[in-house]
Amino acid sequence: MTDDTIESLRIEARRAPTSGIVDTVNYGRLVPGLIPLWVGEGDLPTPAFIAEAATRSLAAGETFYTWQRGVPELRAAIARRMSAIYGRTLSPERFFVTSGGMHAVQIAMRMVAGAGEEVIVPTPAWPNFAGALTVSGATPVEVPMDPSPEGFSLDLAKLEAAITPRTRAIALNSPANPTGWTATRAELGAILEIARARGLWIVADEIYHRFVFDARVREGERAASFHDVRREGDRILFVQTLSKNYAMTGWRIGWLEADPELGQTIENLIQYSSSGTPVFVQRAAVAALDHGEGFVAHQIARAVEGRALVSQALARVPGLTFVPPPGAFYAFFGLPGADAPALARRIVDEARIGLAPGTAFGAGGAGFLRLCFARRAEDLAAAMERLVPVLNAAAAEGERSRPVQVRA
Ligand code: PMP
Repeated sequence: MTDDTIESLRIEARRAPTSGIVDTVNYGRLVPGLIPLWVGEGDLPTPAFIAEAATRSLAAGETFYTWQRGVPELRAAIARRMSAIYGRTLSPERFFVTSGGMHAVQIAMRMVAGAGEEVIVPTPAWPNFAGALTVSGATPVEVPMDPSPEGFSLDLAKLEAAITPRTRAIALNSPANPTGWTATRAELGAILEIARARGLWIVADEIYHRFVFDARVREGERAASFHDVRREGDRILFVQTLSKNYAMTGWRIGWLEADPELGQTIENLIQYSSSGTPVFVQRAAVAALDHGEGFVAHQIARAVEGRALVSQALARVPGLTFVPPPGAFYAFFGLPGADAPALARRIVDEARIGLAPGTAFGAGGAGFLRLCFARRAEDLAAAMERLVPVLNAAAAEGERSRPVQVRA
């Protein structure tokens, strides 16, 4: 195939960015004994009671096309679980089953923005928001978050300043991948006020809502949510997934939550993308939502332990920019001036640890690395024993190569 052949493709397809994590994963994939902390998933397999619900469904012959919005039993199960979590009655009519959170993101973006239009994305951010927008012809507009000794923060004045006549939506991920930044209820209220005043949509990705470690952003058993501040008629599309809470990343099931009035539009977009999520996968999701609270609690307890272990180890590296994250399950840390992709490769070579380079998450991630701590403590302890010396060496070299400050 020639360059011409690729040139002949639609520009949005050609422009779709390649994931910045893939480069490091390809580099280290076959390294023996490597501890992979680069992707956003834990090490636990899906619990047997969930998998068994899928096998029963297959055995019963549930192998046909199905409801585009999701089987009624699953929509009811989602509504029950979300009503309990958010402390308010949410109707099954609000929930639209998708083939993973990513599919929900893609549909949400397609609903609100297209060619010539912009969506604001605070960064560093999960790169798939920008990817989904680019593919639909829209332009992601980064609002860099500010790193500080207290962690990353979002300057709402900067967010507002990024709004143009072409802006259609704000994509807000809280708790955030990769920074762990988590909005307070007051911040969510203020962002919603901005969106209301400017007639913008909010795409609310709250998939890490159960992984919250800081009292300032906690609401009971979960992180603060747009559910806590929204009113009837607010333009909010919620993205959710079973991937993280129930160790189901490979199943590809999640949902979009929206005003029931949008139902037919969402159904159509599902029809023209996945044409529905397999019934047996949906049966597994019902089992997860109805009987998975014990497993979720177990995962949260492991994340609490993993976060403490990783944070204590990173504290042994002088010069590292790092604050234990208030939410999600990533440590996002920086070495000032470091070339993140090169450092990630060096860590593969010298420590046999897989980390994601911060550059994969937007301009603000330069010099940073992301480590996923949703993993058994023994692995994390071994990983940190190997990682800390390499980080210390890199920090010392960086310090030596920095220009000497001469006082005028
Ligand atoms: N949103 C965020 C912020 C994520 O980190 C991810 C997965 N890494 C997703 C959505 C989507 O997850 P999935 O497609 O596996 O449901």
